[in-house]
Amino acid sequence: MKKIIVAIDGYSSCGKSTLARALAQKLHYVFIDSGAMYRAITLYFIQHKINIQHKEEVTNALKKINLSFEFHPESEQNNILLNGINVENEIRNMAVTSKVSEVAAIADVRKFAVAQQQQMGKLKGIVMDGRDIGTTVFPNAELKIFVTADPAVRVERRFKELFEQNKKVTIEEVKANLEMRDYIDSNRSESPLRMADDAKKLDNSHLTKEEQLSLAYNWALEKIKE
Ligand code: C5P
Repeated sequence: MKKIIVAIDGYSSCGKSTLARALAQKLHYVFIDSGAMYRAITLYFIQHKINIQHKEEVTNALKKINLSFEFHPESEQNNILLNGINVENEIRNMAVTSKVSEVAAIADVRKFAVAQQQQMGKLKGIVMDGRDIGTTVFPNAELKIFVTADPAVRVERRFKELFEQNKKVTIEEVKANLEMRDYIDSNRSESPLRMADDAKKLDNSHLTKEEQLSLAYNWALEKIKE
């Protein structure tokens, strides 16, 4: 059967990764969480106290970063490795979360990540979620989905998720972080977050996970049959 590329973009905490992971599983495709790559780069910068205002420091640091994904059969999820070390949990910390959008706005960082993402899509059969997948990484993706949800719903979902992971944050902190990331992601000069002209909009504020998956799966099947 013909294989396609599915690009899923949207604001922070819209449920993009949940949808992308489930869709990839249903289609037997590879799932790549591109945000995890920016988070792992940010973690490296924090660990090595890289001054992100210094272009040369950033360029040299990027040369020392190797990113890869490892499939865990038990959780059926890809975990990200930073220089061979599994950092899947660490990259979700607030320290990384509050710095990642600044790091992701750096042109050299984006060049570094985008080149690897494009390589991963060479054979198609991939679902990738992020902010610029349909506009910059795979502008020719057969299916582009732009996920949205009411801001209040997003804050609530993210807070619940962090609470369940025993992460100590207040709802105000979550709200402020989402607003800040959305602002930086939408206003940066390098491939800002925006909906591709040919993307399908999926507002999941009032949809269950199953309903949104079913919508996206049917769109994918239509494209595969084309
Ligand atoms: O998807 P997630 O929220 O984990 O992404 C973390 C951050 O990485 C985003 O807030 C955004 O700043 C950045 N990002 C990006 N481009 C992507 C994916 C993520 O700029 N394709």
